[in-house]
Amino acid sequence: MRLPIYLDCNATTPVDARVLDAMLPHFTETFGNPSSGHRFGADARAAVERSRASIARCLNAETPAEIVFTSGATESDNLAIKGVAAALRDRGDHLVTVATEHPAVLDACASLERRGFRVTRLGVGRDGLLDLGALADALTTQTILVSVMAANNEIGVLQDMAAIGRLCRERGILFHSDATQAVGKVPFDVRALGVDLASFSAHKIYGPKGAGGLYVRRGVTLRAQQDGGGHEGGRRSGTLNVPGIVGLAEALALCLEEMEEEARRLMHLRDRLKERIRGALDGVRVNGHETQRLPGHLHITLEGVDGDRLMMELQGIAVSSSAACHSGGTSHVLAALHGAAAGNGASLRFGIGRYNTADEIDYAADEVVAAARRLRG
Ligand SMILES: *Cc1c(COP(=O)(O)O)cnc(C)c1O
Repeated sequence: MRLPIYLDCNATTPVDARVLDAMLPHFTETFGNPSSGHRFGADARAAVERSRASIARCLNAETPAEIVFTSGATESDNLAIKGVAAALRDRGDHLVTVATEHPAVLDACASLERRGFRVTRLGVGRDGLLDLGALADALTTQTILVSVMAANNEIGVLQDMAAIGRLCRERGILFHSDATQAVGKVPFDVRALGVDLASFSAHKIYGPKGAGGLYVRRGVTLRAQQDGGGHEGGRRSGTLNVPGIVGLAEALALCLEEMEEEARRLMHLRDRLKERIRGALDGVRVNGHETQRLPGHLHITLEGVDGDRLMMELQGIAVSSSAACHSGGTSHVLAALHGAAAGNGASLRFGIGRYNTADEIDYAADEVVAAARRLRG
């Protein structure tokens, strides 16, 4: 077993060797600028359009033109939220989102607030799920966009996308979802879910960093957020990242091929990790809904354990602590679930992925149990 064991697949994933193989020729052979009129341009353009069509099929989009390539989900979230707000400013000035969203969504909304828009941030229950009644009550005639993530990056819970989509459709309000953690891991069909815009990223699904996309349903208008050559149908200027785009498409296609079997395997490993820790220790809280969650995702709080000291003890595994990515404060996601109590104890996020084995899971569980016992004295 090679140490430390990587268990942080919601932060990023390694590039799958099959994805890298698909990308390599596009650095040195098909290296043309897809905007060029000559043969080199045409070859690169063909690779991009094959990728676009493949991604559109994977998401069940109606046409490949509904896929806009970006540098990742942060850019996609910004483009979706600010782009729709700018395009629909005359129709209304109100947006609705959720307190547990990724900073790319929350900060894009805050930026709009400073420009005169109004934003409602809905709370969640102790299980991390949004109350659909509260969402319905928040919608007004001025609401132009609802943004709700499909799967939470920190606590792994899956929101009821289809129900939210139906509600938005009934009210004639656009629905954006940051689907970065859901796409490739759980079924995500934009038409079945009634999603109008969806953000995704290659590096969370065994593709390269710096490549992502935004699904924009046909008929939805968007104001570009970056001026330039008018690429991507005027929605996102900048020379296309051809190897990255090919990698994104390949990574997504592989995830879909293997999804059912891999989800079963990851759920089994996740439950094994959870039961092994809970069987050996008292005072273990699972954060987020126990079953309505991503297959390979576990988030726990160990009561009576200091978070910083626990991270120092865990040398054999690479996991994330909520404290680490929110230095100096409690995670905004845990605070939304548990209020003031969120800061108590040590929180750990396990992101189990494609290359983890049962032996690694057992090792990780044993290391966590031993460290917690030492620190509790
Ligand atoms: C990782 C992540 C992002 C940011 O994606 P990048 O491609 O790294 O910009 C946004 N939202 C969620 C839910 C994520 O998990």
